Amino acid sequence: MAALRTPALAFLLVFAALGDRARAQGPATGPPPAKNVILMIADGFGPASRTMARAVAERELALDDILVGTCSTYSADSLVTDSAAAATALACGIKTINGAIGVDPAIQPVATLLEAFESQSRSTGIVTTTQITHATPAAFSAHVRIRTMTRAIGEQQLRQGIEVLFGGGTPFHAPSDGGRPNLRALAIEAGYRIVTDRAAFDELEETPVLAIFSSEHMAFEIDRDPLAQPSLAEMTRKALDLLDGDEAGFFLVVEGGRIDHAGHGNDPAAHVADILAYDDAVAVALEFARADGNTLVVSTADHETGGMTLGRAIDGLAVYAWDPEILRRVRGSLGRMAAEIMASEDWEAALGEWTGITDLTAEERAALALAVAAGDLRGALGRFLNRRAGIGWTTGGHTGVDVELFAFGPGSERFRGTHDNAELGRLLAELQGFDMPALTRALGADEGR
Ligand SMILES: [Zn+2]
Repeated sequence: MAALRTPALAFLLVFAALGDRARAQGPATGPPPAKNVILMIADGFGPASRTMARAVAERELALDDILVGTCSTYSADSLVTDSAAAATALACGIKTINGAIGVDPAIQPVATLLEAFESQSRSTGIVTTTQITHATPAAFSAHVRIRTMTRAIGEQQLRQGIEVLFGGGTPFHAPSDGGRPNLRALAIEAGYRIVTDRAAFDELEETPVLAIFSSEHMAFEIDRDPLAQPSLAEMTRKALDLLDGDEAGFFLVVEGGRIDHAGHGNDPAAHVADILAYDDAVAVALEFARADGNTLVVSTADHETGGMTLGRAIDGLAVYAWDPEILRRVRGSLGRMAAEIMASEDWEAALGEWTGITDLTAEERAALALAVAAGDLRGALGRFLNRRAGIGWTTGGHTGVDVELFAFGPGSERFRGTHDNAELGRLLAELQGFDMPALTRALGADEGR
């Protein structure tokens, strides 16, 4: 339900008129569009990551059942994308330059899937473990030239009429800047109920709602305090409960955003824990879709992160092995463990408690002791664990490999095979019968934005 509020009123009215026409036409061919669409994005989740998570968890993943294809991820200006360009491809069906949010390479705004659903007065939601203004959710709900414009992103998000916004968010905690009211005040003005704690979240029954569980990103799953922050699966279930009441259907974007951050940090245990948390959220979405019968679930990644692989050379020798058991025993992210171990009286005992490893070689002990003495353990701890587990990484950034594509529900057969991310965005729009160029023209006509 697009909330009609100034100053976006005129814009939304134009939008709604165009959207209704687009919906009336429906897709050119094929069955009627799915009533609901759940688009799940595992940020930084490469093919090796799924193998790794399955081995560590020692079970099939919910994703395993619904694998349908692959997706290329390059952007308009690089074979290695960033999250902004990749999410814009999915949201708008176009290639853009790295860093750009919901705009084309000429920095002209392009309508997003979320705006298309809102134009038909259907409910929308965004659930993420990152800040709500972060690149992936932003590309569905804002139009700015560069992803770091979080204040502008937040302002635009609050004007979209989005019913459910769950995640983290510095901008929503920031004090008033330059005499302007902060985003929290703007959210209240826009009619949002703001929830910041677990108890209030659990009792939520109405929209629109903005739930902010952390001042920055939400915790890595491996470090998460379940009394303070809900899991991605719990947020997904709550979002579905809240959106399900819309007779016209809904569009929900769910991002497992910290899979990517663990990849950037070459942190294998945190990477796996966030993947499994994402997979639990996929299971919730599939359970809903199976019961509902008219919901399309699509899951993909925006790109791979870290160039992570299973099996690596050790001291120049190829080793035909990797050890998931090492990752099963780890109890924290590298950053958290490094801080805890450094703060302890006996670093080696603390290392044993956090990693389960008590049989250090003389070489390992020397390298770790040196790092403890230098006051910077994180890097050495990561090298130690990755070497023990046989995990290799090629970068602290992203890579250009294709990612996997998963789909379930009405229209899911259209996702079979090899796709491109922008083509995937266009396919999602086509299946709903959206006239995205018309919506983009209406967007350009909005003077108040
Ligand atoms: Zn990233």
